[in-house]
Amino acid sequence: MCVLHCPLCQLPFKPPVFQCKRGHLACGGCVARLPCGQCKACADGDGFFDPCPALDAVVSSTRVGCPNAGCHRYVTYHEADEHQRACPHAPCRCAEPGCAFVGAAPDLAFHVNAAHSVPVRSVQYGKVSRFQVPVSTPRMLLVGEDDGRVFLLTAGALGAAATAVSVVCARGSAATKPRFTCKMWVNLTASAAANGGKADIALVEMQVRSSTCPGNVVAAAEPTFLAVTPAYLVPGADGAAPMEMPLNVRIDKALPWSD
Ligand SMILES: [Zn+2]
Ligand SMILES: [Zn+2]
Ligand SMILES: [Zn+2]
Ligand SMILES: [Zn+2]
Repeated sequence: MCVLHCPLCQLPFKPPVFQCKRGHLACGGCVARLPCGQCKACADGDGFFDPCPALDAVVSSTRVGCPNAGCHRYVTYHEADEHQRACPHAPCRCAEPGCAFVGAAPDLAFHVNAAHSVPVRSVQYGKVSRFQVPVSTPRMLLVGEDDGRVFLLTAGALGAAATAVSVVCARGSAATKPRFTCKMWVNLTASAAANGGKADIALVEMQVRSSTCPGNVVAAAEPTFLAVTPAYLVPGADGAAPMEMPLNVRIDKALPWSD
């Protein structure tokens, strides 16, 4: 694998790869940083770097399998790191505070449901899902239907005034930038009839943060959360307490998307 790394910066080669007349190699980034693009390994000082299409082809065609169980993806060698940072199958810590369990997303969903009785619901990206979540339910797991990604919906009291609700993506290694957006809202349907059918709406739109330790996530401490006041609550399914939040949740993949 050593031939696939730039000898100057040690990073994996990605096209374009450069080569001097005597066969020394360098990546595009290093050549750009060299004075006049000259090879330092060539003592006579006239070793100019030229593109090396043959090695570009090797670099582009060398694929490695993702080591995460259940992933089955092969990516080019120089994209392997990036893929692993974003891989939905990277093992993640449990979403329950204090639990030491670590597992890939599908195992995590099964585990939180079986071990902690956390409700698990599937969501389709780009579609609105409606959940009635009891205010007494601090955690719920949302699982992406196409890719099995796990999102943690957390709720917690904001004093007596409201319940804070937020969403994070649970993943083994946090990607540098958000890859999902989430719109979440509640409608004040109870008073709609009195207001000519128009209902108040409380809505947030957020860049979904990734958490490698979802058990520590507290909704009210997140940069963005939905504040659901008591007026928005509806009675539980069997008409009994606890009251429930009639949440509308829509998760979208942020563009540009690449794995
Ligand atoms: Zn380099
Ligand atoms: Zn050289
Ligand atoms: Zn993977
Ligand atoms: Zn657990």
